[in-house]
Amino acid sequence: NVRVRFAPSPTGKLHIGGARTAIYNWAFARAMGGKFILRIEDTDPERSTEENTQIILRAMRWLGLDWDEGPEVGGELGPYHQMQRMDTYKAALNTLIERGAAYPCFCTKEQLDAKRAAAEAAGEAYAGYDRTCRDIDPAEAKARIEAGEPHVWRLKVPNDHGPIEFDDAVYGHMSFPADVMDDMILVRTDGSPTYNFAVVCDDANMQITHVIRGDDHLSNTPRQILIYEALGLPAPTFAHLSMILGGDGKKLSKRHGATSVEEYKAQGFLPDTMVNFLALLGWSLDGETTIIPRDVLCREFSLDRVTKKDAVFDETKLEWMNGQYIKEMDAAEWAELSRPWLAEAFAAGTRAAANADEAAELETLRAFLADGASAESSADAAAFTDEELAAGGADFDARPEWYAKLYPLVAERETRLTDAAEKFPYMFWGAHVELDPKSVKKVLLKDGARADEALKACREVLASAESWECDPMQEACRALCEPLDMKAKALFQPLRVAVCGNMVSPPLFESIELMPREDVLARIDHTLE
Ligand code: GLU
Repeated sequence: NVRVRFAPSPTGKLHIGGARTAIYNWAFARAMGGKFILRIEDTDPERSTEENTQIILRAMRWLGLDWDEGPEVGGELGPYHQMQRMDTYKAALNTLIERGAAYPCFCTKEQLDAKRAAAEAAGEAYAGYDRTCRDIDPAEAKARIEAGEPHVWRLKVPNDHGPIEFDDAVYGHMSFPADVMDDMILVRTDGSPTYNFAVVCDDANMQITHVIRGDDHLSNTPRQILIYEALGLPAPTFAHLSMILGGDGKKLSKRHGATSVEEYKAQGFLPDTMVNFLALLGWSLDGETTIIPRDVLCREFSLDRVTKKDAVFDETKLEWMNGQYIKEMDAAEWAELSRPWLAEAFAAGTRAAANADEAAELETLRAFLADGASAESSADAAAFTDEELAAGGADFDARPEWYAKLYPLVAERETRLTDAAEKFPYMFWGAHVELDPKSVKKVLLKDGARADEALKACREVLASAESWECDPMQEACRALCEPLDMKAKALFQPLRVAVCGNMVSPPLFESIELMPREDVLARIDHTLE
């Protein structure tokens, strides 16, 4: 029965590479009807924090990568934090000592450093630990330990060991000469296990069948195989995943933008998008399908379709894919996931209205016209306070049915959940809309009399329109072209700026339909003053 694990070290957030490793393990477990285990590798006390552990668990949950055993879930082969497994490492060390496969080493750091320096000075490559303590008489070693002499425990790599070989599920047959492996440390002076030792103990005790991890661990694998052999245990199957590169062909890093799952969440990407997109960084269903919902992934994932070629992180594709998933959502789900940003959009509208000393605003616009100075946006000057956000959240909650109408308008044009508030801020504002000075100048003031004429006529039609629906409203306004002798553009642009604040083409009547009539009329009146 397949058992796989994702084993993050809580020394930072969940990064894109780690998330992909987690997804492959999870999908493989699901496809094979096996178990997916989450293990926290927190043996580095300086760099591991509980906060990072929580961030990682949150990111896993957000991605929807449910684990069958691990923190918060439990399981028979726990605990699932390495720090709580110290007795298991001790037991494994005792097994190795009994089998004559581990020995204490009393060499001090100074002695080892001196040997390394001497080798370098002589122009030789340092071949690793020279096995000074390997042949200390066991009785003497025991006496020194009992006398309290500091020591580490090392693996006694067999002298006559042939090459270490294994069949990697991704890289194929691998062979490493054993004579370059020095007698690695298993347990440090302070009694803590080294990474290689702890991982082997845990994977063995947790009955892991497949180790799927980043290829930065490829060079650890022969060492870990030596430890399995020394313990007399079979090694699991290994599958190493290639690197993820940025668009410039370099290893993905901060330079390329967001690196943690959290950041992508904050930028308005969906968990479904992230799982689909990351799954394709090194795996493919059939070489061409790009939209692979998670149920298909969980059915079809297999290691033989994982490539050893480096994967390239393509932002444009990620963005496109997110747009596809947004279009596939239902409105309620979309609203719920968009809530944080929509609540902010409502808060921005409230703040703008509160700041809207109308006379002052017109003043600002006049100044802008006089000397080209840019007018400041009153809405997004400072971060929102908790009260503003709470009020925005209440505004969001107050109109549950509205999102069913808003969604089709927005989803067509969204590639990130943040887009609704950025592209359609006026949807979340009330009687007051913030006017873009450039648009005011170009549309409302250039030929002010004509613009006023257009606005007044449209206002009259909208004020008395029987139906507040897009098409009839648009028809009724369009009918003004002839009597006013105006092209549709000349007629509608002033209305657009008055209602939406901006001349950049939002779908005008589709938008108006979704706003309360009294707000639309108030916005027009404001620009007519
Ligand atoms: N804790 C290790 C890391 O974060 C992973 C160990 C493994 O997968 O074997 O890189």
